Amino acid sequence: MTPRTTVDGEVRTAQPESAKRGADLLHDPLLNKGTAFSREERLRLGLLGLLPPAVSTAEAQAERVLRNVRKRPEDLDRYVDLLSLLDRNETLFYKVVTEHIEELLPIIYTPTVGKGCQLYAHLFRRSRGLFITRQEKGMIRDVLRNWPRRDVRVIVVTDGERILGLGDLGASGMGIPVGKLSLYTACGGVPPWQTLPVTLDVGTNNQALLDDPLYLGVREKRITGKEYDELVAEFVDAAQEVFPKALVQFEDFANHNAFRLLHEYRDKVCCFNDDIQGTASVTLAGLYSAGRITGRRLSEEVILFHGAGEAAIGIADLVVSAMMADGSTKKEAMSRCWFMDSKALVESARKDLQEHKRPYAHKHKPVGDLLSAVKELKPTALIGVSGKAAQFTEDIVRAMATLNDRPIVFALSNPTSNSECTAEQAYRWSSGRAIFASGSPFAPVDFEGRRFVPGQGNNAYIFPGVGMGAIASGATRITDEMFFEAARALAARVSSAELERGCLYPPLTQLREVSAHIAAAAAQVAYQRGLATEPRTKNLLARIRGLQYKPEYPSYA
Ligand code: NAD
Repeated sequence: MTPRTTVDGEVRTAQPESAKRGADLLHDPLLNKGTAFSREERLRLGLLGLLPPAVSTAEAQAERVLRNVRKRPEDLDRYVDLLSLLDRNETLFYKVVTEHIEELLPIIYTPTVGKGCQLYAHLFRRSRGLFITRQEKGMIRDVLRNWPRRDVRVIVVTDGERILGLGDLGASGMGIPVGKLSLYTACGGVPPWQTLPVTLDVGTNNQALLDDPLYLGVREKRITGKEYDELVAEFVDAAQEVFPKALVQFEDFANHNAFRLLHEYRDKVCCFNDDIQGTASVTLAGLYSAGRITGRRLSEEVILFHGAGEAAIGIADLVVSAMMADGSTKKEAMSRCWFMDSKALVESARKDLQEHKRPYAHKHKPVGDLLSAVKELKPTALIGVSGKAAQFTEDIVRAMATLNDRPIVFALSNPTSNSECTAEQAYRWSSGRAIFASGSPFAPVDFEGRRFVPGQGNNAYIFPGVGMGAIASGATRITDEMFFEAARALAARVSSAELERGCLYPPLTQLREVSAHIAAAAAQVAYQRGLATEPRTKNLLARIRGLQYKPEYPSYA
């Protein structure tokens, strides 16, 4: 039985071919329609008696799901409900999530997914994704071949060492690849059967997990050095061989591995790191949108980062690439990016700097605190990515507002409780002049007769579209240019009315359409740079819209 659907007039196979019938069909989440199987389908597919007699519409099923989810007292219960639905009926899950993305994004991804990972072993119901441990060394190809589907196009892989801001969660980090891939489908339209979550369980140094009798990962300390590198290398090679068209997204690796692995593989295989490059792209989009308000070019900004980790360095690297594309030299562009880390200003006399910070260690006298750095460096933009709450004090925001008519203040640390300042503080302390964006959502702010609607620099604006663009073009590499073109495409989707309200990003409700535009921008780069393997089409955007998965039940007629 091959379920078929019609996409923009073109009949295509909607899901992998299946000869399943009866209970097997009901237990396959990609094929299951639950109570939406028609009487005729039930008769033909051996389903009679296996379902209550009434036939539901997908709309009625979605209504039932939503009512139950909304009745739950805690977001974590909602997360468990939705993941259980994903395990039973993927079409219905994606229907509910895509139609209520604003409400459900914080449940299926940050912040709730963090709690879901912390409690992974306790909440565990059914396995999802592939686990690879050092015991599988030499046989990772076989493990990948155990995955039931061949046409995998996006793999999200983590080693669980730095899950969100929560640190080392070992194998319990699997919630992240699962959640992230659900966003590839819900926001970008990547068909769910083309996605594969992977956890490289290389052990954990989290003693609480090692001591937890219910922990489901390898109960030993993390492997490091050569043994670790060889395992990752074997995984990357095996993924190329078994799923040659797949993009590999590295996710939530600790700093010391994230930069290294990206550096090692970005020019060899189709891969990227969302914590570094996706964050960079969504933040750059915020800067482009801010430029539409200030009238300044990107190359005129002076940016002070509070924090010098994956997010900060990733943003700066992409800003530098984008400034260079705009005519700056590398030296000029880099000289416009400054960093404060947990100790002091990152400057050339410091001897304690990690490798990834050194390129940005400009010549400057030592500066020990953020307020002094603002006064010394006179930034046009202040970007908080230290993970530390309340670092943008009233003095600091006021200093930014003294230096700039429209100071750019991005408080990107997550969750909300770690935000460098609140939206309300940014507007109040700058007399309503701050151009503000945050990592976690803030409610609209009423200030002196104006209503500000702060935008959230959510990575979900970028990676699903870039992934879709890679699929549509058959990209062999993911480049910085794709990310800054994605940022430009995102900023271009913000209306003047939204900018007027202080919002630097389009509404999340437009995510699928935004992703289609981002995909087209990324695919365009692949074609221009000779990185595409799919035939070029005249109307890239129409082709991408046609490729986007729609959560509609297939007909088994
Ligand atoms: P990271 O651990 O790689 O980096 C944190 C950096 O902050 C390190 O350089 C550290 O030295 C520095 N730091 C710590 N305490 C400090 C202090 N008191 N003063 C100055 N610097 C300090 O983490 P990351 O991946 O770069 O993420 C940082 C934050 O950014 C997190 O809160 C994360 O949630 C947030 N983030 C937001 C987005 C988004 O908004 N789209 C995306 C990614 C990360």
